[in-house]
Amino acid sequence: MWTSQDSLPIGSQMPWDDDRRHRRGPRRRPLGAGKGLTDYAYVTVGTGVGVGLIAAGKPVFGWHHPEGGHIRIARAPGDDWPGNCRFHGACVEGLASGPAIKARSGTPPANLPADSPVWDTVAHALAQLAHNLVLTLAPQRILIAVVWSASRLISFPGFASTCV
Ligand SMILES: [Zn+2]
Repeated sequence: MWTSQDSLPIGSQMPWDDDRRHRRGPRRRPLGAGKGLTDYAYVTVGTGVGVGLIAAGKPVFGWHHPEGGHIRIARAPGDDWPGNCRFHGACVEGLASGPAIKARSGTPPANLPADSPVWDTVAHALAQLAHNLVLTLAPQRILIAVVWSASRLISFPGFASTCV
């Protein structure tokens, strides 16, 4: 959950959006990879995990902006690390955000070796999130923006199979 104490994500020069900003924008200016789509989700992974949903061309927004990054998920087999979300422990954000990676590994994500097993747990958490998004929204596409390095997640061999 984003609070006023949260800072901008590391590497904030990259495209970044949040639910509230996206609420105003996509009807007029869809995100690049969302152009032409009517149903999509975008996930931003940095100091937190944010999820924006567009359904029938309109942002999904209830009484409050959605907090899909805090969905509780099935854990990776053998993973019992408690997570670091101050609200939920092992929600997606508590397992896959930059602060979660640092809390788990002792190393900021930008410095975590590519072969660290922590990446497997991060990719698993994001794949579980994608799985839930597919089942609830049936999006045409899920856009994932990772602040530190998307290539580390894309290269995770089990990501696609974990999504289904
Ligand atoms: Zn949480």
